[in-house]
Amino acid sequence: MSSSGIAEHAVEALSARERERFIAANPQSVALAERARQSLFGGVPMHWMSDWSTPAPLFVERAEGARFFDVDGHEYLDFCLGDTGSMFGHSPAPIAAALREQAGRGLTSMLPGEDAVACGELLAARFGLPFWQVVTTATDANRFVLRWARAITGRKVILVFDGCYHGTVDETLVRLRDGHTVHRPGLIGQARNLTQHSRVVPFNDLAALEAALAPGDVAAVLCEPALTNIGMVLPAPGFMARLRELTRQAGSLLIIDETHTLSTGPGGCTRAWGLEPDFLTVGKAIAGGVPCAVYGCSAEMAQAMHLARAHSREMAEGHGHSGMGTTLSANALAMHCLRANLEQVMSAQAYEHMLWLATRLAEGFRALIARHALPWSVTELGARCEFQFRATPPQNGAEAEAAFHDSLQMALHLYLINRGILITPFHNMTLCCPQTSAGDVDRLLAALDAALTELLAMPG
Ligand code: PMP
Repeated sequence: MSSSGIAEHAVEALSARERERFIAANPQSVALAERARQSLFGGVPMHWMSDWSTPAPLFVERAEGARFFDVDGHEYLDFCLGDTGSMFGHSPAPIAAALREQAGRGLTSMLPGEDAVACGELLAARFGLPFWQVVTTATDANRFVLRWARAITGRKVILVFDGCYHGTVDETLVRLRDGHTVHRPGLIGQARNLTQHSRVVPFNDLAALEAALAPGDVAAVLCEPALTNIGMVLPAPGFMARLRELTRQAGSLLIIDETHTLSTGPGGCTRAWGLEPDFLTVGKAIAGGVPCAVYGCSAEMAQAMHLARAHSREMAEGHGHSGMGTTLSANALAMHCLRANLEQVMSAQAYEHMLWLATRLAEGFRALIARHALPWSVTELGARCEFQFRATPPQNGAEAEAAFHDSLQMALHLYLINRGILITPFHNMTLCCPQTSAGDVDRLLAALDAALTELLAMPG
């Protein structure tokens, strides 16, 4: 018996059957996959799209609210929601309207419009940080904020928590192994030694954090308020407050990445928990699914940024490049959608509904786990919840990673897909959006119940 509580042979048997079932039920997806292999590397427009649990990529025809439809005509309840990009539902009506409005008014000009000013005001009011910049992806936001942090502090080292993910930002693609910072396994084409200017400590480990800050060379700690990419790991009581104190004492900046934890409430964890970051980054869902990300900073940071900018101009004699920004950053289309999302979509009522449903789902998962007597636990944060294959919620990334059972996870995900339900791939995270209903939540619970009943009944 595996430590997941489910026998591996049962997982293999279920998985084999479900793969056959998927192939039989999805001839159009299978045909598109075949055709795609002729022109797209790996048969997909982004290589990791072939890493899902399905034997061929599932091709989507359209999506709306909490649902999407595949090219074979099946309807799905979507609890993945583009891994947060569609956290407010697919194509929210105000975003679709904003896209139509801006479509004939120019998409990008490298100049601001009134929307930009409104967005700055809305972001400041929502998150409590006074000054903002707009970019295209959360990866960009984190990359650029790290540059600012190094310029401001004159230090080079970036500290992250083991198990983190902040996008494809070199400095963060590191892990902790036997107490040492090492490259994340699997990096392709890695040339630079990332361990030179990155340091990793376990989440929720104040002693390790204090020791890592002690040399006084850490420019910034970049962290999520809860780890969300290695399974979910919540901060221990007092951890975030002490992190703030320790970073201040060490002269290191605190960057809070709210890209996923935006699901906690209208102002993310920063607002909900009264965090006091020097910088806040958030992307993905911030413009309702249109590519856009933002970063905000305190007044003190803004002042330091002005100084850093003046200094760089002096050094470059007016013809330098800051190393930040991309041509389409803050383009007119993104700005108009960002405004619509902040004004009309990310409302208190939307969150109330999402949080209520996530609680229902988390309670349902717990009841299911108890009924099947499985050594699993559930972690819940705002509109997001996750079941993990360990008896107690993990305290750090290593514990969360040790609870991965890839074959079981893939088998369960495929079983759900074959029954019209999608959850976030590679772990077991679910998100509820404003259009998710209680009935949708109950359908997910019933399907998972059926999968577990089958797995546990398979002869030994
Ligand atoms: N920050 C966090 C916390 C994330 O989870 C991710 C993506 N999963 C990113 C940043 C990067 O987002 P993007 O891929 O849109 O740049």
